[in-house]
Amino acid sequence: MTDYHMLINGQAVSADESFDVLNPATEEVIASVPKATSGHLDDAVAAAKAAQPAWAALSMDDRRAIILKVADRIEENLPELGALLSSEQGKPMEGFAGLGAMFEMGGCLAWIRYTASLDLPVDVIQDNDEARIEVHRKPVGVVGSITPWNYPLLITCWHIIPGLLAGCTVVAKPSEYTPLTVLKAMHLINDLLPPGVLNVVTGSGDIGAGISAHPGIDKIVFTGSTATGKRIMESAAGNLKRLTLELGGNDAAIVLPDTNIEEAAGKIFATAMINNGQTCAALKRLYVHEDIYDEMCAALAGIAASVSTGPASESPDFGPIQNKMQFDKVCALAEAAKADGATFMTGGSPLDRPGYFFPVTIVKDIPEESRLVQEEPFGPILPIIKFSDVEDALQRANAVSVGLGGSVWSSDLEKAQALAARMECGTAWVNNHAMIQPDAPFGGVKQSGVGVEFGRYGLVEYTNIQTMQIAKG
Ligand code: NDP
Repeated sequence: MTDYHMLINGQAVSADESFDVLNPATEEVIASVPKATSGHLDDAVAAAKAAQPAWAALSMDDRRAIILKVADRIEENLPELGALLSSEQGKPMEGFAGLGAMFEMGGCLAWIRYTASLDLPVDVIQDNDEARIEVHRKPVGVVGSITPWNYPLLITCWHIIPGLLAGCTVVAKPSEYTPLTVLKAMHLINDLLPPGVLNVVTGSGDIGAGISAHPGIDKIVFTGSTATGKRIMESAAGNLKRLTLELGGNDAAIVLPDTNIEEAAGKIFATAMINNGQTCAALKRLYVHEDIYDEMCAALAGIAASVSTGPASESPDFGPIQNKMQFDKVCALAEAAKADGATFMTGGSPLDRPGYFFPVTIVKDIPEESRLVQEEPFGPILPIIKFSDVEDALQRANAVSVGLGGSVWSSDLEKAQALAARMECGTAWVNNHAMIQPDAPFGGVKQSGVGVEFGRYGLVEYTNIQTMQIAKG
């Protein structure tokens, strides 16, 4: 078993205690990882704080050049990192529609390289005989990054790369379920960065809580559950940390009667089941007009019946659910839907083999009040709800406390866009869902989050504004 170490001030650091990391396909221990103490966290924050002024003093182009080398180094190790990701997260290397571990690795490169191309130009508000007024963007300081287990390395890149480009230094904490790929990748790039610029501590939620309360940290960027996001917001109040919170969603899609079912069904399936449904902006509630309801349900069930679920060694379409907690949640929501009288067109019960395997499950004739509709399952199970009145569908789509993404499906783009604009969500798609890219801002409204990530809108979240007023004459 490989030994894993934390990364503090450029050094590999171990701890007296450790915790096990499992392969969710076998439930076997694949690694032991150091369990950080609050002393390790203090060391990491102190290193990040000490390194920050010199890092910020480099030119943007110097930091950009280093970040591009980071991308190259990750690319040189892509297959090895992808295989490690597959073993700890469970996702197959390729998987359904090629959206497996290597897709996540490709995403890392795309996001790092695009983000490295961004600038933080000075905005001149006024320049006349009276005064020159400039708006400068300055790094917030030390950033704490707390990441989940669904896309461990990709989300870490989303958090740390804009921070580094802006001149911040970072203390990162990967999920205790999936720390390996992040540790491996950060050690691989360590020699490219000055000591202390990028630190990684490992442990459970306690260390995450320590980061969010730490007085030496100036900003938290967090991806995970709404419940944990709220706890972070509370404990971040101590020193008024800046926050970017990307939290859970329960994305609705509204399928209008003029939709081309054959074209839409494949995309709907792929965007509902992306990463085995363990994706914050996956399509999670499908509202279909009664005129095409049966046909759409049958088309989706047909695709579901044709896909495989199994360990990465079998090159399946889908892997296991990443952890027992999430597996139990998906099983419970399926049982609740059964008790509510829903019809299961495929799946519905865990596979009878070791590992957290739950087959792709399509559920129809489900009441709106069912927990499977009201709660985010974050797994391979899709409830399909019938509607007859579009206004009623919109009202139901919006009647939840979260608002990450939403979509409208129709052959009339103008009508679809007008309806999509009325969905209460951070990203509205027409004839698609869950598609994100490095230059388009992404974030949630309502209890799906605070702030946005990606592109120049995301980059400025790692900065404070300093307005420079120069009086003349
Ligand atoms: P959490 O939000 O609890 O975990 C996300 C990260 O936060 C992990 O690194 C976790 O550490 C850390 N953490 C846990 N407690 C605290 C705390 N008090 N303060 C700071 N950080 C903390 O998600 P779960 O793994 O429990 O998943 C629960 C639900 O969240 C899922 O069912 C799903 O609905 C949603 N989710 C959403 C994701 C998204 O992309 N938006 C991703 C993952 C889950 P550790 O793992 O080490 O405990």
